[in-house]
Amino acid sequence: MLAYALLSLLAVSTPIAVEACQSKVTKPPLLWLADVRANAAPGTDSTTTLSKSDPGMRLIRFEKGAVPIPITADEHIELQKSGLRYTDVTEVDLEAIVTAKAAEGNYASGGRAIPSAPSKQAQVKPVIATLSQANLKTDLSSLTAYKSRYYKSTTGAKSAQDLLAKLQTIASSASGSGGKVTVSAFSHTWGMSSIIARIEGTNTAGAITIAGAHLDSINQSDPTGGTAPGADDNGSGCVNLIEAFRKLVAAGFKPTNPVEFHWYSGEEAGLLGSAAVARSYSTAKKSINAYLNLDMTAWLQTGTTPQIGFVSDRTSSTLTAFVKKLVPEYLTGVIASDDYCGYACSDHASWNTLGYPAVYPFESITKYENPNIHTAADTATSSQFSYAHAHEFTKLVVAYVMELAL
Ligand SMILES: [Zn+2]
Repeated sequence: MLAYALLSLLAVSTPIAVEACQSKVTKPPLLWLADVRANAAPGTDSTTTLSKSDPGMRLIRFEKGAVPIPITADEHIELQKSGLRYTDVTEVDLEAIVTAKAAEGNYASGGRAIPSAPSKQAQVKPVIATLSQANLKTDLSSLTAYKSRYYKSTTGAKSAQDLLAKLQTIASSASGSGGKVTVSAFSHTWGMSSIIARIEGTNTAGAITIAGAHLDSINQSDPTGGTAPGADDNGSGCVNLIEAFRKLVAAGFKPTNPVEFHWYSGEEAGLLGSAAVARSYSTAKKSINAYLNLDMTAWLQTGTTPQIGFVSDRTSSTLTAFVKKLVPEYLTGVIASDDYCGYACSDHASWNTLGYPAVYPFESITKYENPNIHTAADTATSSQFSYAHAHEFTKLVVAYVMELAL
């Protein structure tokens, strides 16, 4: 069965776009996998015995529309070491959900129309004025203190528990005049939860405006045992959301429609956390206004123009055009550029697959992204790690949330 699936996919395989810095593999993923199997020690190649009952077996996909490929636990580790991007659809296959629900015509319940231009300056600018770079540094020092935030590690699970506690402390300080604030863990079948913070809207059933970032990290050369501080990937996006949430709560923010901040587990293992959350929301027929993804916001390569690379694939062009307009309106010293990211490159893809509008502002264009990600060297100590640059992304999150949810 496996051999058949692999051979049939090899026949239709097309080159896959992957982020250059994330993978040293230059060949198409299916050829890479065939090599892994050919090089496996005798007796360990389970291609003839693999079945769904094998513990550790995963079903993965390298490109949209492909038949999911079963891989062994050992191959799963090799895949993580390769840096190739993939979706893990063992538990949640969003593409299959879309295919099934398309017949019913009831997925991706829509939100409000995306406005053509920013209009909430009077409310947004005072909150932006309260945002702190120092808080980004403090929050990031907590996140990078774990040896790793790998989704299957005890330290990864602890990082989610500690984030939950931090956010609950912020929520408990909410003033009575703002929207009701709740923080909860979204449990998975692995140890590390995703975390969700919600600021209730006056219209509690209104379309939700979401900003999300993955909390997990990975050391590509040693996924289960290596040191993975994940300062830029993606501690940076996580602390942007913490600070935005903190200051919106402090301001007594009371949106018309609900706002949520999501910190996902398992992004580095095939978008696991965001797929589970997106499926849950789709199943519950929650209305989604928009999803903004932050994944790496702090690297500013020496000699380059500070810019925000807006990912053009697996995103909404309408929403992206609107969020780009927030850059000159609310940010300082940074321009908006266009970028491309490829299959399974981050959690926006989970929401996009289900038909929800998504936008993904990235730390630069891919050419100038942080070369240290997925290694022990992804720390905040480099001179090119810029809290000032990351600070602009906190502003962007606050502007996005307030413009769309007020
Ligand atoms: Zn990332």
